[in-house]
Amino acid sequence: MSRLITPRLTAFHGMIRRSGYRGKLRGSALACHLISTRRQSPLCTRSSGNDRLQSNLRLVVASALLFWACMPTSARSAAEPERIQGQITTPSGFSWKYAYDIRLTEKRVVISVAINPVPAGVSKVELDRVVPIWKVGIERYWSRRYQLVPTAETRLPIEVEANFRAPVYHHDVIVRPGKGHSDELNWHLQNSPELAAHEFGHMLGLFDEYEGGAQDPVQPVLDKTSIMTRSPTGGATQPRHYRRILGWFEEKAGLSEVKIEPMKPE
Ligand SMILES: [Zn+2]
Repeated sequence: MSRLITPRLTAFHGMIRRSGYRGKLRGSALACHLISTRRQSPLCTRSSGNDRLQSNLRLVVASALLFWACMPTSARSAAEPERIQGQITTPSGFSWKYAYDIRLTEKRVVISVAINPVPAGVSKVELDRVVPIWKVGIERYWSRRYQLVPTAETRLPIEVEANFRAPVYHHDVIVRPGKGHSDELNWHLQNSPELAAHEFGHMLGLFDEYEGGAQDPVQPVLDKTSIMTRSPTGGATQPRHYRRILGWFEEKAGLSEVKIEPMKPE
């Protein structure tokens, strides 16, 4: 086993053990279950030191070997960021691109969006002043508001990062002076953090939730308490806004019916 693989394997193994995925995953689920049972067997604690050592050694080797068989291929690669992107076009004539990176770590799901602010008649000083305000606002609305609950004992917070400095960007946003009509890729210097958080929702692939906006043509939502409403000040993110992320996680983990629940304010 290479040095590179071992830490990742250990981390993933820990994740699987703590979350209780093991018995539910495809592949050698039965063998995994046996390892799990053996670990907790009271017989192990009554055996002699030597027996115990050999037994533990066998378990470590066996569990390492079986680890990859227990993981769906898709979940093995989930620690690496995966780029999700696409285009949404509605019959009412709206069209926009969504794009973000998503990765699963041992303790959380991380969504990362790299936004390139392109000044148009705006000085660097002005841009440098407003970008941190937007970043804080976006992350305040989107990050650690909800968590995935794959098993009764496991909570995976959904963390969201808005990165305005990155080697590669998902979105170029034109920033103009003053106020004015804004959309996903056209912002103004006086846009509030809430409006930035609203446009960020479109970058994640979300529809508007107000009459006359870019509504979901199949299941339109009208919700004045949502960050996706027309005047989002005071609005909030809702569990439905993380549905695509939930689906990604279920596919990677080989699970279904994973719950999503609000996080307590920190
Ligand atoms: Zn909108």
